[in-house]
Amino acid sequence: MAVKVKEPYFVDDLVVYFINEEEALVTDYDCRWELKASETSCECCTFMFRSRFTPGFACRHIEAVKRMKHHSPAE
Ligand SMILES: [Zn+2]
Repeated sequence: MAVKVKEPYFVDDLVVYFINEEEALVTDYDCRWELKASETSCECCTFMFRSRFTPGFACRHIEAVKRMKHHSPAE
């Protein structure tokens, strides 16, 4: 993985902070919630609700984690 654990990264209006190789804390500027997200799950209500009806649904927190894991930051 191209990103470092325990370093904050900005992905659009989210801050992604990996706590280990799989999971990250994703902080939203709007609501200031710290959500634990991985490539397959997230704590947010959107994911909890939508994933019940849409298998494989990825909320923007999951998308941010995926982007960080699969693309190195532009710096
Ligand atoms: Zn989410």
